[in-house]
Amino acid sequence: MMNAFGAPKRVFERGAGIHVWDADGNRYTDLLSGLAVTALGHAHAGVTAAITAQLDRLGHVSNFFASEPQIRLAERLAALTGDPDTRVFFTNSGTEANEAAFKLTRLTGRTQIVAMEGAFHGRTLGALAITHNPKYREPFAPLPGDITFVPYGDVDALRACVDDTVAAVVIEVVQGENGVVPAPAGFVAAAREITTAAGALLWIDEVQTGMGRCGEYLAHRVDGVTPDLVTLAKGLGNGFPIGACLASGPAAGLLQPGQHGTTFGGNPVAAAAGNAVLDALDGGVLDNARATGAWLRDAIAELGHPGIVEVRGRGMLLGVVLAAPNAAAVADAALDEGWIINAPRPDVLRLAPPLIATPDDLRGFVGALPGLLQRHG
Ligand SMILES: *Cc1c(COP(=O)(O)O)cnc(C)c1O
Repeated sequence: MMNAFGAPKRVFERGAGIHVWDADGNRYTDLLSGLAVTALGHAHAGVTAAITAQLDRLGHVSNFFASEPQIRLAERLAALTGDPDTRVFFTNSGTEANEAAFKLTRLTGRTQIVAMEGAFHGRTLGALAITHNPKYREPFAPLPGDITFVPYGDVDALRACVDDTVAAVVIEVVQGENGVVPAPAGFVAAAREITTAAGALLWIDEVQTGMGRCGEYLAHRVDGVTPDLVTLAKGLGNGFPIGACLASGPAAGLLQPGQHGTTFGGNPVAAAAGNAVLDALDGGVLDNARATGAWLRDAIAELGHPGIVEVRGRGMLLGVVLAAPNAAAVADAALDEGWIINAPRPDVLRLAPPLIATPDDLRGFVGALPGLLQRHG
C-alpha cells in the first residue's frame, strides 16, 4: 500500500460491539468507532444479516436500474430532513457526497461558495477546495476556484460576504477534524436566514455529525432549520461504504439526467446496510448517545486535571482540549493501554465512541486519562 497514512499503528483482526482485537490477541476498547463510522458497534448482527441477505439476493445492477433497498433508504433519509420532497444522490464516501453537492451548486448559475475557516470536507479536489487546512490544500493547487473562507461562527463576517453572487454557504455543525469545535449557538440559524435572503443554498456537511453521532439523526435539526443540501456518510453504513447527498426545496430538482453519475453509489448492498443502520438507530440509541456523551464529558471535566483545559462537543463527538500540544503522544500511549482515540489537532483528543456505549464501558478510560496525561504531559 502507498504510504498515505504513515506506518499502521496496529493490525486488527476482529471486532465485537465496542471492542476490537489485534493480531496478537490484545483487546482494545474502541472510543473512535473507525472515525465516527461503526456507530452501532463492530459486527452488528442486524447490519451483517442485511448485507449478507442482500448480497445473496442481488448484489449490484448499475444505476441504469433501481433496486428496492435504495428506494427505501432514499425515502427514509428524505423523511429525516423536514422536507418530504427531498431527493437523494447516493455515493460511496463523504468526499463524494460533497462533490455531488458542489456540482449541484454550480447548476444554480452562480459559482461562488462561502466556506468556513477550519473546515474539513474531504480529499477529492472539489471537497479539498472548500477544506481550509493549507497543509492539505497547497500541494494540490490549483483547486477549483471562487471559494471564500470566513471565520467559523462569525455571523457578521458571513453576512458581509453573502450576496446574490453566492451559490452556497457550506458549514459543519461541529468541526470534527478541526478539533471538535461546535458552531456557536444561533450560527446555523443565522446562516439559514442569510442564505435565504441572498437566494443562496445552505449546505450542511453532516458526514461526521449525522446519523446519531451528536444525539440526533441530523445534528442541525436542533437548530430548527431545513438546509438545501445535506451530506452524509461515515455512520450511514456502520462500516459498509456509503454516502448520500440530500437536496431539499428547489435544489432537489437541479440535477438532470447525464449531469452526474457513479457506478457503485446506491449499490443494493450498501443501501441494505443503510437501511439496517436506520432499523437499529432508534430513539433509545439516540437517547443513549446524548446521555452517555453528557456523562463522558462531565466525568472528564470533573477529573479537574490541570492538563485538561476543556471538554467540548455534542452527543458522542467530544474533544478534550489539552493544556500542551501532546495529544498525539497521549493517543499513542492510550493505544498501548488498550484505548482507541485520536488527535485531530496537536492539543485535542477526539472521542467518538459507538453510540451504544454506556458509562460502564467508558469508566475505565476516564480513570486511565490522568495517568496518560501525567506520563506524557
Ligand atoms: C470524514 C469527513 C469527510 C470526508 O469523508 P470521506 O468518507 O473520508 O471521504 C467530509 N466531511 C466531513 C465533515 C468529514 O468529517
